[in-house]
Amino acid sequence: MRGLMQEFPLLVHRVLDHAARWHGTRPIISRSVEGPLHRTDYATVSRRSRALASACEARLGLSMGSVIATMAWNTWRHLEIWYGVMGMGGIVHTLNPRLFTDQIAYIVNHAEDQWIFTDLTFVPLLEKLQDQIPHVKGFIILTDEAHMPNTTLRNPICYETLIASGDEAYAWPEFDENTACGMCYTSGTTGHPKGVLYSHRSNVLHGMMCALGDAMAIKSIDVAMPVVPMFHANAWSLAFSAPIGGAALVMPGPKLDGASIYEMLTEGCVTITAAVPTVWLMLLQYLEQNPDLRLPQLNRVVIGGSACPESIMKAFVETYGSDVIHAWGMTEMSPIGSLGVPTGQTNSLSAEDWWTVKLKQGRPPFMVDMKITDDGGNALPHDGTTFGRLKVKGPAIARSYYKGDGVNAFDAEGWFDTGDVATIDPHGYMQITDRAKDVIKSGGEWISSIELENIALGCPGVHEAAAIGLPHPRWDERPLLVVVRRQGSAISRDDVLRHLDGKIVKWWMPDDVAFVDEIPHTATGKISKLELRTRFKGYAFPGT
Ligand code: AMP
Repeated sequence: MRGLMQEFPLLVHRVLDHAARWHGTRPIISRSVEGPLHRTDYATVSRRSRALASACEARLGLSMGSVIATMAWNTWRHLEIWYGVMGMGGIVHTLNPRLFTDQIAYIVNHAEDQWIFTDLTFVPLLEKLQDQIPHVKGFIILTDEAHMPNTTLRNPICYETLIASGDEAYAWPEFDENTACGMCYTSGTTGHPKGVLYSHRSNVLHGMMCALGDAMAIKSIDVAMPVVPMFHANAWSLAFSAPIGGAALVMPGPKLDGASIYEMLTEGCVTITAAVPTVWLMLLQYLEQNPDLRLPQLNRVVIGGSACPESIMKAFVETYGSDVIHAWGMTEMSPIGSLGVPTGQTNSLSAEDWWTVKLKQGRPPFMVDMKITDDGGNALPHDGTTFGRLKVKGPAIARSYYKGDGVNAFDAEGWFDTGDVATIDPHGYMQITDRAKDVIKSGGEWISSIELENIALGCPGVHEAAAIGLPHPRWDERPLLVVVRRQGSAISRDDVLRHLDGKIVKWWMPDDVAFVDEIPHTATGKISKLELRTRFKGYAFPGT
């Protein structure tokens, strides 16, 4: 027997409708690419999204299932494109401009993007690329007529002119909630990037999941600032969960340096924000250089994308009085998979014990199920020490890549193998110990590169650290710790090793420390272990 409740497909434009109707005047403040701060609200963004949807049908020839790409910063215009195009039944493919140009061309061709909406910043990049993406019909430039560039891009269209030609009274169509609406490619450190195809239902459920109390707890009194780009896995849901919760939005636009982020945090009275550790490192350095500055409104900082060092978490909590939520996830998971928030059980831990737990990547919210297994697929215990392959299931987790790529990641029971190696403790807190391909295999045992890095980062004088496994004649692999010194520091190899001594088991001790000026990062801000391993290929450890 079926229930007798109303059909109400979970479509993303219902999120914006809700925000426009019930939180219509909540502000959306953006740093525009043209320069000045721009202010709007949900009611206006809703009207403009409808106008855009109608113009996309009438002028760009888009219809249900059409794919367009965006290469854009977090601004109100990017938000309008998301809701406008998804709302008319199209698919928004977010492009990461930090990828190599060949990868961008591959992705655009693979996704069969019909048009590209681009910020002014990326016009030169796309001018160089356009011959490699011949099927793209044209480029919509996110600005007004006064700022239109002199460009060689084919069919350049001014965004504001396009919107002005649309109908603000456009009625969203109704369709099945499993219809595709967004697409994002994984960063592809091995092989070609693979496409993840989000649906209306998965985005709405994921947005609601992230707004839950034991997740980011997004409320209408909040002001949310996604520093994490909209082109990086749905801006960790904030472009959906902020309007679901009725929270105001602050969009940082193109400037992500410490001073600019501080300005947006204070200008917008931001209460919750989210980004990768490198962004917070830049902000904290700026604050350190300007000791009078404070963050009185900032209630919580979500940090993820790569392991958050203890020093960053402690600086926010102890110096600035903002809580930190360490989160883990991946593009394939929309992306949130776990968050480090307290439970009734951990509330009774001592402050010191709680910190040990808080540093982990956290617990899965409702709609994410997870387990760790050995290589044979057998479930491993939640004892906090046994490492295993981390597998996940849920309604906002991919069941396949676009066009059937990467089939090995999905098993017959529907579990997705994340490629991460993790422990789960008796309180249910998961800790990533490595990417499966980055774990250091020494004498048949595993050494967690992330743990080595985190401890090294607590050593005064260490600015950034990366541990990699290099071939060793006796042990198969041994760890090399690569370190960037803090400005002005003369810290030595022995100082670093002395700091690690006693904090790790003896056989985890790196065989050497190499000092470099800079550690390479991938397009999504993670340490590029692949590049480091290539750079240190043939490195001779002392005594070998
Ligand atoms: P992406 O799809 O680009 O977001 O990358 C996902 C991968 O980033 C995960 O599989 C993890 O290896 C890594 N990652 C994300 N968040 C964290 C975290 N908090 N700690 C450690 N690794 C993380």
